[in-house]
Amino acid sequence: MAEYKSKILIIGSGPAGYTAGIYAARAGLSPIIVSGPQIGGQLTITTDVENFPGFPTPVAGTQLMEDMRQQALKLGVEIIEDRITEVDFSRRPFECNSENHNLFVGDAVIIATGASARWLGLPSEDKFRGFGVSGCATCDGFFYRGRDVAVVGGGNTAVEEALYLTNFANSVTLIHRRDSLRADKIMQERLANNHKINVEWDSVVEEVLGAENPLGVTAVRLKNVKTDAIKDLAVEGLFIAIGHHPNTDIFKSQIELDAEGYIITKANSCQTSVDGIFAAGDVQSGKFRQAVIAAGSGCQACLEAERYIAALNDNSNA
Ligand code: NDP
Repeated sequence: MAEYKSKILIIGSGPAGYTAGIYAARAGLSPIIVSGPQIGGQLTITTDVENFPGFPTPVAGTQLMEDMRQQALKLGVEIIEDRITEVDFSRRPFECNSENHNLFVGDAVIIATGASARWLGLPSEDKFRGFGVSGCATCDGFFYRGRDVAVVGGGNTAVEEALYLTNFANSVTLIHRRDSLRADKIMQERLANNHKINVEWDSVVEEVLGAENPLGVTAVRLKNVKTDAIKDLAVEGLFIAIGHHPNTDIFKSQIELDAEGYIITKANSCQTSVDGIFAAGDVQSGKFRQAVIAAGSGCQACLEAERYIAALNDNSNA
């Protein structure tokens, strides 16, 4: 067991965490990032990224995150591959224990643990993830110009993604397990008025079908839950939009979360309900799950943490 102490402790290694680290290092605050189980975060499970500014040609999600990691390391961020399992935000400095039995102590903590897309849990879905199966239409929709695609889910995200995909796709099929949508009325109206969208009601995906070489989706096998009828729907893209799960389980008893488990921050701020604890990126309560926004909020969290630390220093010198 080792003890790591830093002025700013950052939990999570997605765009929010790395950006916070880059800014903190440049401010001379010797930050430590604890990477978490998915080093590099959600972008490491996507393929090409085309909407992160600064890359005139598409960059692989894994490459973008590796570049951010290298940039952080170069600037002096200490990155520890470990997972925080328990936090104590009632004492100062703040203490966090890890899976590898390390103790991390920080004067300020930036939580950037993100949210994980929910998946159906099918082996075939896993096999084709990044090769036709996606968790983000905004990220990957562009690659399906003129093709037939499907979206799974019945909430606002699924309807929003289906509508967005009609900008590119030849046809979009919404696959929903019930006979009515959870999405807002206005979204349902937009869906009904869009001639490119069909809905498969009362249907679940039994299996994702595809080709081996090159690896890619060719169809989805659907089961009607009312009739048990099976049918194959020819599509080249399958977007799973059945919700996200914020990675906040370890913070539950320590800071304020909203009804869905996202961290509540003050208006236009990354400050959580505990002074000195900041939240950045997808873990923060909000509706925009985009890497560039996560990076921006990582920067903001760091600037706010810097001010918090400066005030701590002023008070201890007074
Ligand atoms: P939701 O939880 O609202 O919807 C998830 C959908 O996925 C539901 O229709 C659910 O079906 C379905 N689902 C869940 N698990 C499975 C499964 N295993 N197999 C098949 N289907 C499944 O999540 P969203 O991401 O859509 O929205 C999250 C929040 O963000 C909501 O509050 C939403 O309103 C908000 N949001 C708002 C937007 C806006 O205002 N523009 C845009 C996007 C999201 P069932 O209905 O049967 O439970």
